[in-house]
Amino acid sequence: MNDVDVVTGAGGFIGGHLVGELLRQGRQVRAVDVKPFEEWHQLHDDAANTRGDVALLDDARRAVAGAEVVYNLAADMGGMGFIENNKAACMLSVLISTHVLQASQQAGVERYFYSSSACVYAADHQTSTSGPQLREGDAYPAMPEDGYGWEKLFSERMCRHFTDDFGFPTRVARYHNIYGEHGTWRDGREKAPAALCRKVAVAALTGEPDIEIWGDGKQTRSFTYIDDCVEGTLRVARSDDPTPVNLGSDELVSIDEVVDLLEEISGVTVRRNYDTTAPQGVRGRCSENTEIRRRLGWQPSTALSVGLERTYAWVYSQVKQHVA
Ligand code: NAD
Repeated sequence: MNDVDVVTGAGGFIGGHLVGELLRQGRQVRAVDVKPFEEWHQLHDDAANTRGDVALLDDARRAVAGAEVVYNLAADMGGMGFIENNKAACMLSVLISTHVLQASQQAGVERYFYSSSACVYAADHQTSTSGPQLREGDAYPAMPEDGYGWEKLFSERMCRHFTDDFGFPTRVARYHNIYGEHGTWRDGREKAPAALCRKVAVAALTGEPDIEIWGDGKQTRSFTYIDDCVEGTLRVARSDDPTPVNLGSDELVSIDEVVDLLEEISGVTVRRNYDTTAPQGVRGRCSENTEIRRRLGWQPSTALSVGLERTYAWVYSQVKQHVA
């Protein structure tokens, strides 16, 4: 029996945390990413850290050779500012999803986990700020987020057909807005929680209270803390059901409420300047968790106030180093 777990996209935000947790659980881990090591969000000495471009079939084969479980987290992605302006790049992640899946099946991997997204959900379920709960069935009839969401929906469906046609065990989670320490916090790929933490941290450090908020601040989301994401990923990967399941918090907040929380955490009162021309995505989106509770008897439970306090402290330390 093989006993190595492979994480692709291990140099990224979620991958870095997942590798850490697998190592803590005593697993041997091969961590694979295309980026130079100095750009990895976390580099764990106890893992076999490897560079490879898993969009290429040969690299994907090398990456998964001898693996027991493959967690495919590699993708070209970012927050709304990135995915609205880089649709072709997002669609090209289909090469990663295809080749890692195919290589894993051909290598006789025992289980394959795919990280899908809330962006697979049809836009007409997300037009209101109130009650925008997304159930797994709402992904069809399909009209996902253009570019990024289409790639995710196609790739999770490919998992389904590899399971149906080849009996290959795949598991799929639809992540909802993951945030936390060691995430991307600048340079255009960051998501709303990290971007807002950075803006409030800059206000705290410089005394300049003006911050820019994308949209009118009333758009709603649920944000999932990284520890819940990692725990949920392992629970879904080790569960019996191959159909995609939401992995997200069901604590619905508006962007303005996130800023309110950050003001409390930081002790800084900011002046909010709304940019309604900036990318802002759907009007409302929240994970509906009946299915994950039914399957696993579990759901993400970290309160946003708790996760955001930890995230703010980390982003603040990064901004401080940068400003210095
Ligand atoms: P991330 O951008 O921090 O990590 C992705 C990693 O994949 C990067 O380090 C990147 O270098 C690597 N990668 C890209 N192309 C590669 C290639 N060809 N070969 C090898 N590595 C490659 O993103 P993340 O936030 O850690 O997300 C991980 C996964 O979860 C992605 O598939 C993403 O689409 C999915 N997801 C994330 C969120 C979220 O809120 N962060 C939400 C929904 C889905």
